[in-house]
Amino acid sequence: MKYILSLDEGTTSARAIIFGESGEILSTAQKEFTQFYPKAGWVEHDAEEIFNCQTEVARKAISELGISAGDITAIGITNQRETVVVWDKFTGKPICPAVVWQCRRTSDFCDRLKNDGMEDFFREKTGLLIDPYFSGTKLKWILDNVPYARHRAEKGELLFGTIDSWLVWKLTGGKSHITDFSNASRTMLFNIHTLCWDKEILKLFDIPESMLPEVTDSSGQLAVCHKNVFGSKIPICAIAGDQQSALFGQCCFEKGNVKNTYGTGGFMLMNTGDKASESKNGLVTTIAWGIDGRITYALEGSVFVAGALIQWLRDELGLVKTAAETESIARSVPDSNGVYIVPAFTGLGAPYWDHNARGAILGITRGANKANIIRAALEAIAYQTTDVLKAMEQDCGVELKEIKADGGASENNFLMEFQADILNCVVSRPKCVETTAMGAAFLAGLGAGVWRSADELKKINEPVISFEPKITESCRERLLCGWHKAVSKTMERD
Ligand code: ADP
Repeated sequence: MKYILSLDEGTTSARAIIFGESGEILSTAQKEFTQFYPKAGWVEHDAEEIFNCQTEVARKAISELGISAGDITAIGITNQRETVVVWDKFTGKPICPAVVWQCRRTSDFCDRLKNDGMEDFFREKTGLLIDPYFSGTKLKWILDNVPYARHRAEKGELLFGTIDSWLVWKLTGGKSHITDFSNASRTMLFNIHTLCWDKEILKLFDIPESMLPEVTDSSGQLAVCHKNVFGSKIPICAIAGDQQSALFGQCCFEKGNVKNTYGTGGFMLMNTGDKASESKNGLVTTIAWGIDGRITYALEGSVFVAGALIQWLRDELGLVKTAAETESIARSVPDSNGVYIVPAFTGLGAPYWDHNARGAILGITRGANKANIIRAALEAIAYQTTDVLKAMEQDCGVELKEIKADGGASENNFLMEFQADILNCVVSRPKCVETTAMGAAFLAGLGAGVWRSADELKKINEPVISFEPKITESCRERLLCGWHKAVSKTMERD
């Protein structure tokens, strides 16, 4: 029996899942770690805590299965993307808290770059928009603000990495300082066409190249875990950013294949093959993965608040006790009774990119009740996804026929049905919705020779449920028209 250990390091928790050679989940362990909010709009993590949490859950998954570390054929790593860690090369200690992807501390600097007309410069090189979301301005912030950081980086004493690099560096006992193409493409420092760190951008941000990791394929014999960590040397055979990993786990291997993850946020990716398609509609161009030196690109649209809206109904409004009960409550009413919720809690992401927009509940009449509001929340998740899909269709000039869904909120059948209705396309959900961890396992298994072809992988994670559109075109148009009016209200300026 061959075992693959997938390390799924998310934004709020670290997970370890052991897959067998038929792709079945054999053992899982998960642990949450601390979120730090030192100022309004700032989000930080403790990188040491993340590493400890990740290794602890890995050990737990191994021991619960009753195997030893030496039985593991390969490790695959998938991670929260864009988050920045800077550490001392000699002591291995981070020099400051990790600056998390959600952190908005570089908003003003990003506004300045935009006012200076730098949007095209970054888009052409990195495929990205100028936004605090990506790593580059966060790294610059650390070098500008942590005492002596830039000086020490110039002397070659400091290393930078996204969470994948940090984990690999720690797992290999400081031997390998690497990242993969998918993670590098989220830093705003990597040229996705020449496949190199971009010297002009590094100069603009005053970032010494010596602190950046070497960029590798996403699958293959990438590094070896030091025997002191788990008691045995284990090859690390995959690294991929969480969304790209989910795209792989959903078997979106062909150009035009689309997946949407309904997690805390919503992330839609479309495989665009060997072409880096530029978006004219507020999406970003990114690298899906690099295998055998061949790059596959993707178009991506990120929605900041998806399942988090349901958490808000539960934790802040107290309208529900569990996320799951929203499904039956939404079904208890025929419609949202004209209520729309625009969850622009931290501004709007794709395709609007308005960080000043704020959330709103609109269209409330005397007859609107709790169930209408809950239904409107689930509908909002579907509407946001629809806006991203429409942008993708416009960018690629074809009408998409199917999207593959995953993530916690994809378990909600009402949401999936409404999504199919409002998109007017088939929404399918695979057997295993742990597609992020599965993608890393697939990439690692391919790298280690456990699996040999895409076809073999497709058989492992076939879609089991498909939701078909059922409403009329006029009904769809009416609902979408109301949604777009609501969105425009949240973007109005005084
Ligand atoms: P992440 O990996 O981003 O932490 P998950 O994929 O685990 O997120 O999904 C968790 C999110 O999904 C939460 O925001 C939760 O509110 C939402 N969620 C989970 N189950 C349901 C459900 N049955 N209906 C609606 N939302 C759900």
